Amino acid sequence: MNKIHGKVSYLRPQPAIFPREEHNISTKNISDGALKVLYRLKNAGYASYLVGGSVRDLLLGREPKDFDVVTDATPQQVRELFRNSRLIGRRFRLAHVRFGDEIVEVSTFRGPHHDDNGAGHIVDGRIIRDNVYGTIDEDVWRRDFTVNALFYNIADESVVDYVNGMDDIKSCCIRLIGDPRRRFTEDPVRLLRAVRFATKLGFRISPDTGTHISGLASSLKEISTARLFEECLKMFFNGYALQTFEQLRHYELFKELFPQTEEALTHQHGGFPYTFVANALRNTDNRLTQNKPVTPGFLLAALLWLPMDRLAQNHMAQGMNEMDAIILAGDIVISRQTSTIAVPRRFTSMARDIWQMQPRLARRSHRRPHRMLENPRFRAAYDFLLLRAESGEDVNELAEWWTEFQRNKPDQKSHSRNRRNRRRRPRGRKV
Ligand code: ATP
Ligand code: MG
Repeated sequence: MNKIHGKVSYLRPQPAIFPREEHNISTKNISDGALKVLYRLKNAGYASYLVGGSVRDLLLGREPKDFDVVTDATPQQVRELFRNSRLIGRRFRLAHVRFGDEIVEVSTFRGPHHDDNGAGHIVDGRIIRDNVYGTIDEDVWRRDFTVNALFYNIADESVVDYVNGMDDIKSCCIRLIGDPRRRFTEDPVRLLRAVRFATKLGFRISPDTGTHISGLASSLKEISTARLFEECLKMFFNGYALQTFEQLRHYELFKELFPQTEEALTHQHGGFPYTFVANALRNTDNRLTQNKPVTPGFLLAALLWLPMDRLAQNHMAQGMNEMDAIILAGDIVISRQTSTIAVPRRFTSMARDIWQMQPRLARRSHRRPHRMLENPRFRAAYDFLLLRAESGEDVNELAEWWTEFQRNKPDQKSHSRNRRNRRRRPRGRKV
C-alpha cells in the first residue's frame, strides 16, 4: 500500500509483463532519436520506457507519428543528460530532445491527482493541476485508454501492461481506464479522443465506455476554445475526416463543435447539405492521401457554407445586395463558430475570401476572369466552386467554364507579365 499526502490512496497493482518473444516490437522500428534517448537514460541508471501512441502503433504494425518516452529522471536530470534538449510546459514540465527534424518528448512519471481530500488537483470533477511526480504504476492511471497505457521497457525489451491493454489491442477495442464517467468528466477532450482513435485505428469503442459519450457531450463546453481547435485539427487532418465526422454525429458530439452546421444538416433538401459536407471531408482525406496541401481555412469555409448561405439569402430577401449579404452573414457565422472553437484569424479570413469570391466567379465579362486568376485565393475559390458543383448546386456550367478557361489560359493579357516567368510556369499548373 502506498501513502500519499498522509492518506492511503490505492493498492500497487501487479502488471502483466510480455517478454520480447511474446510481442512484435522490434528496436528496428523505433526511430534513431527515440532509441538514443531510451538507451542514454537507461545507461545513466534511470527507468526508461516508450509509452502511449508509439507503443500502441508498433504493436499494431503501424508507423508511429512520434515517440514519447517516460522515465523516473526529473526534467532537470533529463536536461542535464541531453544537450539537445529544452524544457517546456507550465502545467507539467517535460523535456523535448531534438535530433534534426525529430523531437522526442521525455516526461517524468506523474503521480495521482486527488478529488477526495482537498489536495486541490480536481475541482468539480475536472483536472486543474497535474504536476506531481510519481512512479510507473501511478503514471498508468492518468492515461486515457488502455491501448494508450502500455509501456515498452528498453532495459529488457518487454511490454508492461497494468490495464489489460494487450487484450484490447488484440480485440481492437477502445476502453477508458477506470470508471468511464469519471474519466470523461475529468477531461472531456477524451470524448473526442475516443472517437478519433476508434476511427483512425478501425477499433470499436467498448460499450461500457461508449455508452457515456452522448450523455456527456455537452461537457465539451468546459474545454477551452483553443484546445478544441487543436483537437479538431487532429480529427479532421489525419486522413479519416469523413468517418470521424460520421462518428462524431453518431455520438452527438458534432453538434457541440459545429452547432450551426448540425442545424443546417437537419434541414435536408434532397440530401444536399449532407452531401456537401461529406464531399468536403472526403476531398480533404483524398488530398492527404495524395500528399497535396490542405488547409483548415478551406474546410471551415465548407463546414459553414450552408449556414452562411442561408443567412445571406435571408439578408438578400430583405433587399441587401449579394456581396454585402455574404460579408455580413460571413461575419455572423464566423463569430458564432469562434465562440466554440478558436479558429485562428488567418483561417477565418481565408473562409471569408472563399465565400466572397463565389459570386465574383460568376462575373465573366471583360478582363475580370484574367484578374481573378491572379488573385492569391483563386485556386481555393475555384476548388470550392468544384465542390459546390459536385454536390449538386447549380454551378456546373460555371465550374466547367473556369476549368476550360484555365486550360486555354490568357493569351491576351500577358503583356503586363514577365515573359520569362510565364515560360517557366507551364500552362494548367497550379497558380
Ligand atoms: P497520436 O498517434 O494521435 O499521437 P497518442 O496516443 O500518441 O496518439 P497523444 O495526444 O500524443 O496521443 O498523447 C500521448 C499519450 O498521452 C497518450 O497515448 C495517452 O497515454 C496520454 N494522453 C494524452 N492526452 C490525454 C488525455 N487527455 N487524458 C489522458 N491521457 C492522455
Ligand atoms: Mg502522440
